[in-house]
Amino acid sequence: MASSDPASLSGQAAIVTGASTGIGAACAVELARAGADVVVNYRGSPQEAEETVTAIEALGRRAVAVKADVSMEDDILRLFDEAEARLGPIDIVVSNAGIQKDAPLAEMSLDDWNAVIAVNLTGGFLVAREAVRRFRRKGLRESVSPALGKIVFDSSVHQVIPWAFRANYAASKGGLKLLMETVAQEVASEKIRVNAVGPGAIATAINAAERENGLDEMLKLIPYGRVGEPADIGRAVAWLVSDAADYITGQTLFIDGGMTLHPSFKGNG
Ligand code: NDP
Repeated sequence: MASSDPASLSGQAAIVTGASTGIGAACAVELARAGADVVVNYRGSPQEAEETVTAIEALGRRAVAVKADVSMEDDILRLFDEAEARLGPIDIVVSNAGIQKDAPLAEMSLDDWNAVIAVNLTGGFLVAREAVRRFRRKGLRESVSPALGKIVFDSSVHQVIPWAFRANYAASKGGLKLLMETVAQEVASEKIRVNAVGPGAIATAINAAERENGLDEMLKLIPYGRVGEPADIGRAVAWLVSDAADYITGQTLFIDGGMTLHPSFKGNG
């Protein structure tokens, strides 16, 4: 049953890709805290995915873990089939799964280039394409939300900030930016909202080594003076897919403690 609170996700079902750990897990939990039932997608860590499921169930919402590799077309079709079979029509899709495989350009293997593009960019395409198909099939349920469906991509500040030694990653996130904006333009008239979040440095496994070896250098890039927490992103995503943000589409919300303010230019340049 829909709530009169525009920030509520009550009566809605969501899929979050890569929700076994990190930002994806936090998104799944925050969507549930706002009232949604959630499909917790993972690729390789069933135990961690089950921990996310348990956290959601503790909030009184339904959750189910579904294994699928976002870079594989058949896996994505099965992910949506299983999601709908278990939780009913899907209203919200968060395309979060992503990887890094860093190397200087001259030493970057084609395999590492292809792997990052396949998960971060092609995965985003496959997930968004299936989401649009399923939203159309579901139809508008105005008693639940004025939008037919909501998609959020987990991009990065590196969709706008170049990142040496990570050409594959930066290219994937730059690609996501125009994928998001193009899809948003294409489907807005159908009342499908498509947005992105652009996290800065968030404390997860993806950057554990960088934080361990260079936390002081990292903090120089963050005017707000702290590394972000996964819940900083999760809370923003829960708001962005809610009706409180109903007039927002085609936008990237940077959640970065000011990283995109180019802090090295303060008093300089
Ligand atoms: P984590 O490594 O903690 O999480 C990555 C998640 O993606 C895991 O749940 C992993 O599941 C899943 N995953 C990886 N490959 C696939 C795949 N092929 N199919 C399905 N799931 C997959 O990292 P983060 O939480 O930090 O990263 C999440 C997203 O946030 C990424 O897109 C990343 O680029 C983005 N981001 C992160 C920032 C940060 O500072 N942490 C900053 C900016 C953006 P499993 O373990 O089961 O393989």
